Amino acid sequence: MTDGTHRPTRGSSQRIVDALRSGAEVTRGELADRTGLSRATVSALVRDLERDGLVALGTGEPAVGRTGRRPEVVRLTRRAGAVLGVDFGHEHVRVAVSDLAGNVLCARSARADVDRGMESALAVARRLSDLVAEEAGVDRSELLACGAGVPAPVDRATGRIGSTSLLPSWSGTTLTAALEQVLEMPVVVDNDANLGALGEQAAGAARGVDDAIYVKVSSGVGAGLISGGRLLRGSTGIAGEIGHVAVVPNGVPCRCGGRGCLETIASAPAVRRQLLQTTGHALPGDDLLRALSDGDPRVTRLLADAGRSIGRVLAAACHLLDPAVIVLGGDPAFSTEPVLSGLREELDRHRLPGAGGDVRILPAQLGHQGQVVGALRLAARSLDGRAPQNFSPITT
Ligand SMILES: [Zn+2]
Repeated sequence: MTDGTHRPTRGSSQRIVDALRSGAEVTRGELADRTGLSRATVSALVRDLERDGLVALGTGEPAVGRTGRRPEVVRLTRRAGAVLGVDFGHEHVRVAVSDLAGNVLCARSARADVDRGMESALAVARRLSDLVAEEAGVDRSELLACGAGVPAPVDRATGRIGSTSLLPSWSGTTLTAALEQVLEMPVVVDNDANLGALGEQAAGAARGVDDAIYVKVSSGVGAGLISGGRLLRGSTGIAGEIGHVAVVPNGVPCRCGGRGCLETIASAPAVRRQLLQTTGHALPGDDLLRALSDGDPRVTRLLADAGRSIGRVLAAACHLLDPAVIVLGGDPAFSTEPVLSGLREELDRHRLPGAGGDVRILPAQLGHQGQVVGALRLAARSLDGRAPQNFSPITT
C-alpha cells in the first residue's frame, strides 16, 4: 500500500478490524465477545490500531434500557481503507465509495445503455469510480475492493453472468475478471436484487432483520432472499428470480422465452403498457409515480393489481421462508401504498391459517441507492479473508 494507507495485518488485529466492519461502533467488551480474544488482548490491539490511525475511540450511547455512564466505543477510521460499490441497471451505472465502517462518502450515477454491451458500461463504471474517489478525497490506492451488481443471475463461483435472456449481450461473460481489469482492484459480483436485500438489511427497512424478502420491481421483477441472516443464492445463482414464475396460463411471451411470467404483468413497463391499453396515453420514464401523486385512479388500480400479482407469488415464498419483513423497492412507484396494500391483501388470502400473520410489508428506505449500498457491504465483507459466498450476516 502507498500514500499512508495501511492494510491491517493478518491475525488478531485483522480480527478486530473484521469485527468492526459491521459499521457499528462497539465497545471493547463487545469486541472481545465477537473475536473470542481476551479483553486485555483486545485493549492492547485497539491501542496499537489507534496508534496506527486505523481505529478511533469515541463515546457511545448507553445500552438499551440502561442509563448512566456512556461507554467508550471503537470504530474504524478512513485510514483503514475504503471500498467501491457499482450498480449496473439496464439503463444506468451508479457508483459509490464508502469507508470500511459503512459510511457512504460519495455516490454518482450516469445514464448508460447497459443492455447494449459490457465494454462501454465498464468504461462508465471506471469514469464514475475515478469521479467519486476524487470527490470523496480517497486515493485509488486506498480502495481495497469493489462489489458490483447486475440485473441478471450471477454464478458466484465464477462471476459469470448466467442467463442468456436477461442481459443477453453480457451472457456468458466473466464480469468479475473484466471489472477487475478495468478498476484495478479485487471485485465481487452479485445479482441486483440480492444487493438490494443486503443494502436494506444493512441500512434500510430490514435493518437488523434476519429473515426478509426484498422485492425489486423495475424493468423486471426480482427478489433477494435472506434467511437466518444469510442471503440465499441457490445452486446456480437464480434463487429469487420470481419475475419468471408463470402466473398467467398462455399469457404474453416474456423475454426469458416463457409465457405469462409475473414480469409480464407486474413490472414497471407492464403497468405502463396496461395503462396505454386502458387509456390510449403513454406514460414515459418515471411518470407512474407522478400520475399516482396526481391521484389518477387508473394508475392506482393498476399498481394495486401489480401488488396483488406479486403477492400471489410471494404467498408461496412466505410459506417456504417464513420472513419477518417484505421490503418493496426498485421503481419508487412500487414502494407506494396501492402496491403494499395489494400485496398484503393477497398474502392474507393465501397464507396458512395462523401462519405469516405478522409479516411486515414495508417500502424500501434506500430508494435507488439500495443496490449500491449492498454492493459496498459485499465489498467490505469480502475483505475479511473468508470465501465471499460465506460472508457473515450483516447485522448493525
Ligand atoms: Zn419470464
